[in-house]
Amino acid sequence: MEHDTTNYQAIARDLAREFAPRAAHWDRTRSYCWQNVAELADRGLMGMTIPEAYGGQGASYYDVVLVVEEIAKVCALTARIVVEANMGGISAVMAYGTPEQKAFCAPIVRAGDKPAICITEPGAGSAATEMTTTARRVGDRYILNGRKHWITGGGVSKLHLVFARVLNEYGVEEGIGGFIVYRDTERDVQPDGFEIVRHERTLGLCGMPEAELVFNDVEVDSALALIPPSGFRHGFADLMAAYNSQRVGAGSVALGLAAGALDHAKRYLLSRHQFGRPIAEFQGLQWMLADMDVGVQASRLLLHEAAKSSGSGDHPFPDMTKAARAKLFASETAIKVVNDALQMFGARGYGDQEPLERMYRDVRMFTIGGGTAQILRTQIAGNILGMRTPQTRSGYSRGLGVPLDIEAAE
Ligand SMILES: Cc1cc2nc3c(=O)[nH]c(=O)nc-3n(C[C@H](O)[C@H](O)[C@H](O)COP(=O)(O)OP(=O)(O)OC[C@H]3O[C@@H](n4cnc5c(N)ncnc54)[C@H](O)[C@@H]3O)c2cc1C
Repeated sequence: MEHDTTNYQAIARDLAREFAPRAAHWDRTRSYCWQNVAELADRGLMGMTIPEAYGGQGASYYDVVLVVEEIAKVCALTARIVVEANMGGISAVMAYGTPEQKAFCAPIVRAGDKPAICITEPGAGSAATEMTTTARRVGDRYILNGRKHWITGGGVSKLHLVFARVLNEYGVEEGIGGFIVYRDTERDVQPDGFEIVRHERTLGLCGMPEAELVFNDVEVDSALALIPPSGFRHGFADLMAAYNSQRVGAGSVALGLAAGALDHAKRYLLSRHQFGRPIAEFQGLQWMLADMDVGVQASRLLLHEAAKSSGSGDHPFPDMTKAARAKLFASETAIKVVNDALQMFGARGYGDQEPLERMYRDVRMFTIGGGTAQILRTQIAGNILGMRTPQTRSGYSRGLGVPLDIEAAE
C-alpha cells in the first residue's frame, strides 16, 4: 500500500487543534482522555500500523512518528496513547503472533484500546531480565504469578502483554515469553486472580494511569502465549526488539513537547516587551532560541532515521542502537528545551495560564520510562565497543548489574 504521509500529518494537525484546549483539563482532573481516544479511533490513528489484512492501514513507524509529534505539541498524554496503540506491545503481537492472536487483538485496538506492556517489577526495573513473574504450563494453559508495577494504562487498558519467565510442566525454566491478558474494562471484569492494587500519583502526564498489577494464579489459554521467533529461550531479545519501536515513539512524544515549547517561546519572544522593545531583540534569548531549534531539529532527524530503520520480514522493528540514540537525545533535549521555553516566559511560564508548566512536568519522564538515559547509554556504548549488554542477550541473562560480556555483537 502507498502510504500518504502528508495525509496522516494533516489528520494529526486537525486533531491537535481539537485536543489543544482540552489538554489542561485531563491534567488538572487526572482523567484519561476518552474523548480524544474516540476521535483518534474515528480517524484511524489507533492501530494504524496493524496490517490491512487485520483491519489496519499497515502504516509505517515513520508515519506514526509524524502523527505523534504533531499531537504531542499540544497534548503529550494523547500522543502517548497513539504510541502504545501502534508500537510496542501491539507491534510484537503483529510481528510474532499467531493469526488468531492478531485477529483477536487488532479490532480491540482499532476500537480504541491502548494495550499495556507489563515488564517492570518492584525488584526488576532496568535489570528487566531479573523479573520473577512466572508463567507455568499446566495442560493447555499457563498459570501467571507475579507483580508488575508502573504499568501505563493499568485500569483503562483491555489488552496486556505480560512478560514472564516460562516454566514447563515440570517447573523447568524455558526463557521469557509474552502473555496476552484481556480485561473487560467496560464491564469491569478481569480474569480471576488479576488485581490492580495501586495507582501512582505522578508528576506529569497526569491523565495516564500508572498501576501496579498482581497476578495470582491467573489462567491464560496457551493460544494467548506469544512465542517469539527464537522460542522462549531467546524470547526476551525478540520481545525487546519489538520494544525498540516504543522507544522511538516515546522519543517522538518528547520531540513533540520540545517542538511545541519552541513554538510557544517564539510567539512570546515577539509579543512580550521589556525595556521598550520585544524581548526577542535580546541576544541572550536569541541564542537560547537558536540552541532550542537545533536540538529539536537534531532530535527529529535521529528519530526519523530510527523509525525508517525498520524493514519487513526478519527486521520489522527499528534498529536497537538507532532507537536508543534517538530516544536518549530527544528526551534529554526536550527536558532542556521545555525548561528554557519556560524560562523565557518568566513568571508567566511558571503559572498555569500557559501550558509550559504542564509540559515541563510531562517531559520529565522520558529519560526514565522505557529505558533510562543510563541504560540507553550502556546499550549505545555496548554497540560501539562490540560488547553485548545483558538486555540484548537471552532471557537467561541476569540484568545489568554485571559487567558487560566481551563478546562480538550479533
Ligand atoms: C511514567 C512511567 C511509565 C512507565 N510505564 C511502564 C510500562 O508501561 N510498562 C513497564 O513495564 N514499565 C514501565 N515503566 C517502568 C520503567 O520502564 C522503569 O522505571 C525503568 O526501566 C527503570 O527502572 P526503575 O525505575 O526500577 O529504576 P532502576 O532500574 O532501579 O534504576 C535506578 C537508577 O539507577 C540507574 N541504573 C540502573 N542500572 C544501571 C546501570 N547498569 N548502569 C548505570 N545506571 C544504572 C538508572 O538509570 C536509574 O537512574 C514506566 C516508568 C515511568 C516513570
